Amino acid sequence: MAELEGLEFGKSDFVLLDEVTMEQFMENLKLRFEKGRIYTYIGEVVVSVNPYRQMDIYGKDNIEAYRGRELYENPPHLYAVSDAAYKAMKRRAKDTCIVISGESGAGKTEASKYIMQYIAAITNPSQRAEVESVKNVLLKSNCVLEAFGNAKTNRNDNSSRFGKYMDINFNFNGDPTGGHINNYLLEKLLRGGSDEMLQSFHLQNDPAVYVYTKEGTSNNDRSSHKAVLSALEVIGFSKEEITSVYQILATILLLGNMQFESDGESVNIVGQEVVNHISELTATDPESVNKSLLYRTVATGGGEVIEKGHTEQDACFGRDAFAKALYERLFGWIVSRINSIIEVKDYDPVLHGKNTVIGVLDIYGFEIFDNNSFEQFCINYCNEKLQQLFIELILRQEQDEYQREGITWQHIEYFNNQIIVDLVEQAHKGIISILDEACLTVGKVTDTVCLDSMDTKLAQHPHYTSRKLSPTDKSMDFQKHFRIRHYAGDVTYSVEGFLDKNKDLLFQDFKRLMYNSANPVLKEMWPDGHLSITEVTKRPLTAATLFKNSIVALVDKLACKEPYYVRCIKPNEMKSPVLFDDARCQHQVAYLGLLENVRVRRAGFAYRQLYARFLQRYKMTCEYTWPNHLMASDREAVEAIVIQHGFQDDVAYGQTKLFVRTPRSLFTLEQERNHL
Ligand code: ATP
Ligand code: MG
Repeated sequence: MAELEGLEFGKSDFVLLDEVTMEQFMENLKLRFEKGRIYTYIGEVVVSVNPYRQMDIYGKDNIEAYRGRELYENPPHLYAVSDAAYKAMKRRAKDTCIVISGESGAGKTEASKYIMQYIAAITNPSQRAEVESVKNVLLKSNCVLEAFGNAKTNRNDNSSRFGKYMDINFNFNGDPTGGHINNYLLEKLLRGGSDEMLQSFHLQNDPAVYVYTKEGTSNNDRSSHKAVLSALEVIGFSKEEITSVYQILATILLLGNMQFESDGESVNIVGQEVVNHISELTATDPESVNKSLLYRTVATGGGEVIEKGHTEQDACFGRDAFAKALYERLFGWIVSRINSIIEVKDYDPVLHGKNTVIGVLDIYGFEIFDNNSFEQFCINYCNEKLQQLFIELILRQEQDEYQREGITWQHIEYFNNQIIVDLVEQAHKGIISILDEACLTVGKVTDTVCLDSMDTKLAQHPHYTSRKLSPTDKSMDFQKHFRIRHYAGDVTYSVEGFLDKNKDLLFQDFKRLMYNSANPVLKEMWPDGHLSITEVTKRPLTAATLFKNSIVALVDKLACKEPYYVRCIKPNEMKSPVLFDDARCQHQVAYLGLLENVRVRRAGFAYRQLYARFLQRYKMTCEYTWPNHLMASDREAVEAIVIQHGFQDDVAYGQTKLFVRTPRSLFTLEQERNHL
């Protein structure tokens, strides 16, 4: 709430706006962006606009300026909320979390790195070696996950293709003792930007060469490659493990180049040497590699096991699914290896005090593309869940505080998006259930049949529609589209590919092939490959259900922590440091629910402060309190200030804090203070 810099930089807290309108909000956001003030508060929420240039606000001096200070004592910054989260954790032994949201390229991952850096910088003042090493590994793990989980997209040169939640554990001293990473829905990387990512590992496409070479890549690639290698080593991956990682990447590249030919009778792989290379890289025998790519083992009704030759199309499908699964399992394995290394070991709460946690969530924001598919469906569902949590936590927190302080307050209305969450996840009736049911149905169920089933079951739902349900709406196709009215706006999804992506089918033959690898690292990634064909009866959970389960678990984790929010906004599509695209920004402000956020904050009390702190800041504005007051309590002294400035109708007195309803009162105080 501090107006530390004067009005030429706009208002540092949106709560201070004269009126909560989109117009005023946008004006302030734009002004601040143009003046290089990329952070603005809504109470304790940080709104951040990607500057697309290096800002001189993250150095050592800045860290010192924010360390141990209150939010309003400095200009808005990520460091201030990081410190608030850290203080809550250390002083009050609260588990806290920092939830970072925003669309692709808005600056989430950069924000998460600054937060981690800040926490690393302010902890372990005595530089104890074991703590330093924990911090180092935590920071390095970011680099590795980015190398494997990020790709260049047209929206962001370094786009995270997975959601990440990282817990950092602290001992009673407030020093990091370890951590844990959860990853969510890695987008299968083998299309588009992914090639480039794989190339950066210096794996040549030439099948004759599978070790990383120095040719044909830029210096930049080479140095980032070195950084990844050294990060893997620092984290504690063994030589064998690192080699295995590269062997798997090489295998994926080889699969990407593999072609099939058909002579009308049988299908074959073009060029046997590729099979030999894959078998060498994966420590399997060439015959098995060949077979798993060309045949599928199936159990007949009578329990007989037969080998069925692929069509060329099946073979291509199988190859692609195999390559993607290899990548996905590799990524999952890397995360679990990092976790086993950074997990807190030998922690005895009796000896060491309570173990507390700060969680940092960097997860994809709401997505609307020209063509929205299964991935966008999952991502947008995740955002509905997080919005639901946001509403609950922000309101709950407010209400808890008023109760604690003995202040009455009126409940305010807001749009509760539970109805949309239900549309997606409800048992039997929700979209995920309908999808799963279609996937389980034996026989040829197509995406279109599945859409029919959704139309039938969801016809009455106010947030669901399709062309069939609204025949006059020409923007949708009968066979393909359905639309969800999300809290952030309408999104039209194409059902094409939904079933395949949800089934995430990988022939068991590949799993067995990998499980039988002589390389223990590879074998470890494919534990489910030990099942023989007759044992594989139970269907694995579908992709949507697995995703739902992981998001439900995530929300449970966040819900029991004290939350801090960073809402990131992308100023333009050109990655330009000087362009503020009004329409694009306004759209983001709308769907992030920022205006509602300001309203909630103002409907209650926009500002609250401990009596002693309030006095300290404003005592110079009142003759009875300057330089010191002679009243019986700080509370009475605060009353004197309030009365002198004439806003006694605008406040409530809590047990320990003064609550101010409208920011204007406070603003008067701030101005007076600045003019003294
Ligand atoms: P995605 O969802 O695609 O992963 P993201 O929200 O994580 O996107 P970032 O990768 O954090 O986006 O940011 C995109 C780019 O914007 C960065 O590579 C960097 O160039 C720039 N950027 C973001 N935040 C900052 C910042 N605080 N200072 C300078 N540049 C920034
Ligand atoms: Mg990112």
